[in-house]
Amino acid sequence: MKSYQVVDFGKQLELREYDNPKPVGKEILVKISACGVCHSDLHLADGYFDLGEGNRITLADRGTKLPFTPGHEITGTVVAIGSDAGNVNIGDSGIIFPWIGCGNCEACIEENETLCEAPKYLGARLDGGYSDYIIVPDSRYLVSYGDMDPAVAAPYACSGLTAYSALKKIPKTSQNDWVIIIGAGGVGINGILLSSSVHNAKVLVIDNDSSKREQAIEAGADKAFSPDDIEEIRNVIGIGAKAAIDFVGRPETTDLGLSLVKKGGIVIVVGLYGGSLKLSLPLVPMRSVTLRGSYVGELRELKELVDIIKIGKTKLIPIKKQDMATANQAMSDLREGKVNGRIVLIPN
Ligand SMILES: [Zn+2]
Ligand SMILES: [Zn+2]
Repeated sequence: MKSYQVVDFGKQLELREYDNPKPVGKEILVKISACGVCHSDLHLADGYFDLGEGNRITLADRGTKLPFTPGHEITGTVVAIGSDAGNVNIGDSGIIFPWIGCGNCEACIEENETLCEAPKYLGARLDGGYSDYIIVPDSRYLVSYGDMDPAVAAPYACSGLTAYSALKKIPKTSQNDWVIIIGAGGVGINGILLSSSVHNAKVLVIDNDSSKREQAIEAGADKAFSPDDIEEIRNVIGIGAKAAIDFVGRPETTDLGLSLVKKGGIVIVVGLYGGSLKLSLPLVPMRSVTLRGSYVGELRELKELVDIIKIGKTKLIPIKKQDMATANQAMSDLREGKVNGRIVLIPN
């Protein structure tokens, strides 16, 4: 098989060829149809996340061994199964749920695998989808998407799921509420597209790129502003928004969210841009605000999401198909903010 791998942190991916792996036990071997290119692939290739004030969390510390194959928005077809693979057949297709836990801890048993302390995420801890084949540890992680285009389905494993899970962490809204979405990049646009499937609230988007604001309105946002239009934003939301989702994750964006939610509001940080936030502590109790994180999503949420998409309840994520050989170019385009929607790599 041909895999585009991180061989050295901070360097370009390299093409490496290997014999196809053989699935054992519960494993299945999947021939990859498509793999989306996600922002976190950039962090994985760089080898660290910026924690702010000069602090970093490195992948080496987190146990990632080189070389490894990134890519976690994967669709494909089962081509071989282990002896104990259970209810799966060769030829079955699906989205692969990549946020796999250890399977043994309390979080995993309660099916909150993203809270597992010893995860086995595909494309981060185990080899991922920038390849033509992948070993998946268990067939239960294959989620059927019906007759959708596999390239269209792929980004739901991360970009779509991340947005959906964040939206689900907002308490029930009414049609008078505002939900603020900060950052209309790939995941933010999904948040806008999926919002009406989860909430009744109106959606106000904040992004400093005018073309992204236009896309936000096309995707169904009620309003879209630059962060500089703070007075206009306040005029629209009145006493404040019910919730803000920060799909960027910079100190300024989270701070902006905190300043725009009303008493009892919630700010959900999703983006991993990096940095550290100075927080005025008395305002946290006095305003009863919640600041919480949301990391990707759970298998049950991916199944719910795929059901929403299959019945056509939401507009689909815009994608751009590219040959997998362009993986490095795709990553640098994403790094430079040149990508609208999602690049999906197709094995050649
Ligand atoms: Zn991702
Ligand atoms: Zn676990």
